[in-house]
This record gives sequence, C-alpha cells and structure tokens, in this order.
Amino acid sequence: MSRDWILFVLSFPFGTLSAQTTPLALTGTLITPDGIVQNGTVLIQNGKITAAGAQVSLPAGTKTVETHGVIAPGLIDLHNHLTWNVFPRWKPITEFGNRYDWEQKPIYKLLMDAPHEALVQQGLECQMERYAEVKAITEGETSVVGGTYTPCDQGLARNLDYDPQLGTGLGTILYYIFPLSISESELAAANAALSAKPRGSLLIHLAEGAPKNASAAEELYTLQGRGLFKPGVSLIHATALTPANFAAMAKAGVGLIWSPRSNIELYGDTTNVAAAKTANVVMAIAPDWSPTGSVGSLGELNYASVWNQSQPSSIFTDAELVAMATANPATLVGLQDQIGSLAPNHVADLLIIRDTGKENNKDAYWSLTHATPEDVDLVMIGGAATYGDPQLMRQLSNGQTETLHICGAEKAISFASETNPPGTFAVTQSKLDHALRQQGRRLAPLAECGQ
Ligand SMILES: [Zn+2]
Repeated sequence: MSRDWILFVLSFPFGTLSAQTTPLALTGTLITPDGIVQNGTVLIQNGKITAAGAQVSLPAGTKTVETHGVIAPGLIDLHNHLTWNVFPRWKPITEFGNRYDWEQKPIYKLLMDAPHEALVQQGLECQMERYAEVKAITEGETSVVGGTYTPCDQGLARNLDYDPQLGTGLGTILYYIFPLSISESELAAANAALSAKPRGSLLIHLAEGAPKNASAAEELYTLQGRGLFKPGVSLIHATALTPANFAAMAKAGVGLIWSPRSNIELYGDTTNVAAAKTANVVMAIAPDWSPTGSVGSLGELNYASVWNQSQPSSIFTDAELVAMATANPATLVGLQDQIGSLAPNHVADLLIIRDTGKENNKDAYWSLTHATPEDVDLVMIGGAATYGDPQLMRQLSNGQTETLHICGAEKAISFASETNPPGTFAVTQSKLDHALRQQGRRLAPLAECGQ
C-alpha cells in the first residue's frame, strides 16, 4: 500500500479461459437481476451464459449438473492490493487519523513495507500475486483489481485493470492509490480514459481516514480542482466525506467503493454509507487487503452484513449487499453487460455456495451474505471450473487439480487456465513462506477460521 500510485491499462474484448464447448446446465437457486429463481437453470456455452431462469430449453447434448446450491454471479473486487495479502492479519494497537499516519509508523515499515519490498526484490512478485488470487478465488471472487506493477500472465482471476484476456472494445480501467501525487501525465491518462468511447473508469483512493479527519476530507477538493470529479470515477473509502459530499458525488455521477472492515480496524469507524445511500450514490463493496480488511469479498460481505444489523436501523437489505459485490461494481467500471449478473451474453463467471439460508428459513441473499469459505462449492471463471468442492470439480473441470484445505473442508483448485504456470501451488506456498520467515514474518493462511 505504500508504493507509488499505480496505473494499469485495460483493453479487452471478453474472451474466455478454457471454456467447454459442450453446453452445460447448472441447476440450483439462482440470484438473477430479476430476483431469486428457485429450481432454476443456468445454461453455459463457450464460456458464456446463454440463458438463466426457471424455464430454460436445453440444446441436445447438454450436460446437466444439479448443484443444490445458490448460484450467483462471481464476486467483483474493485479494491485490493493483492501482493500484500501474503501477510497475516495486522492488528494495530491504536486507531489512526488517516492513511498517512500509519504508513509513517516504524511498526508498519517493519511488519509490512520492508518485508514486501524484500520479497519483490527476490523476484517473488508473481508468486505473491498467485497466492493472493487463490485467496480471492476461495472467497468467491472472479474479478479483481490492484495486482502487481508488471502483469503476471497467469490467467487465474480476471485482473480488470490490466489483463488482456477479456479483449478489445471496452474502456480502460485505471486504479490509483495516492490522489495527492497525480502527475500531469497521469492526469492526462485519466482524462483520456474518462472521455473515450466507450468510457473508461478511474478507481481512486480518497478521503481515507477517521470520519472527522480534516486532511482526509481535503482530498476531495484536490480531486475536484484537477477536474476528476465526473462520471466514470469511483472513490475508494471516502470515510471522511459528508452527506453534502455524497449528494455532490451522486449529482456528478461519481461512485463509491466501501471497505468497512479495514476502515473500522484502522480508524475506528467507516464511511457514512447511510448518507451515500440516501443520496443515491452507486456503491460497491470490496475488502481492501487482507491484513486489515477481510480475506476476500465473501468475508467482507459477511462483515458488512453483521455491521449492518448492528446499526440503529439497518441500512441495506441482503439483496442490496449482494448487488454491491456483483452488479454494482460491474456498473462502476462500465462492464455491466459483460460481468456481474446471471444474464445472457455475460461471461460465465459464477459462484455456487451451499444454501445455508434454506436450513435457517432465510433466502438466497442471506445465504450469500452469511456464507463462510467452507460453503463455497464452485467458482467458475469464463466457463472454466476453477475451484470448489472436489466432487463438483471432478465433474466439471478438465485436467489436474490440487487440493486445498479451507477451514477443515477439502477443496480442489485447477491451474489449467494459467498460461505460464510457475510450478505447483505447494511450491508457491513454500517459497513464499520461506522468504517471509527470512524476514521475520510468516505466510498468511488462505482462510481465517473462527478467529
Ligand atoms: Zn486500498
């Protein structure tokens, strides 16, 4: 997080990974743009969804798999710092005023910044990214941002801010970390992306700090002064902004990316999302990074849901929270016709979880906002079964898988989509663990179980 702001360019049509050509029908409880569909079917062909609903006619030769689970769009994470997710949880003993406070602390340099730099210097950046993407996938994520400086051409999750696997004809997505140090060339790149057709997007960290932190709040004026307060821009954090600021954001077509757990762990409070909702700001939710945020989007949804229930009156419905991890982030980056919904012509990026709501008399949205990583039965990216329950993976994945243990549950993961696999995942783990121990740290667990 202390690196300079980064800029990655995206330019892609939506292609697919190793998608099957035989039509595949997955049955279960669907979360669709029109609501929950019980006993529904998602039909997938050539890596894309061709139909989703209660009545789907299946072409001859369709392979049908009954999942008995909740089938949702894959989760879209618009705020992460992937390579930092090799670190275990960092629990500061104090609350900070804003991000510049903790970045200057010796403890941050010792525990995070110096070991991160050491691993990068050892040439392990792509292994760090691979480990982080596996973590993200175990948390139901199919699209991520905030990877390495140099793209590691590995083909696991969709890297929305640089991965060319999605093709041409869509806007450029830029991901900036430090709003105060945007250079003229970076400003020009942002303006070019935002005025292009189709329009690109700028995801920018802004006003990160305690809600009454004046210097964090000032960043908004910097952004406005540089002419970047306009459609296609989404503000990450915005914890120090006021109801009037949110009204101005909605008016300007500026979105919000909310990361409650990291905010509360670092600053003791989070964004005034009630005011943002009242102002009709389009909002997404994302984990930030696993040291002070959630391990991934599923955990962040769970955190937000518990936080929501703890408010004097709850702000969001479970359905709204699910939209904040699926359809809303797709909209914020202009990809609402490609990802984020179970809808025809979308790429087949899916998450299937155990329907725990059914056992608790709750609906499928509840199942998703209360799921734990053990409940993940399948993550499919571009029609390729990438991760999940070993039995489902045996039915759906072509090729070898490796075994992961997630909070006592056995899972299988396929690296078949990687174009340049850097060895087995066990080797990735042992290289990272060894290098981290040399720096006085250890490798973060893939999942947090009952901590
Ligand atoms: Zn961040």
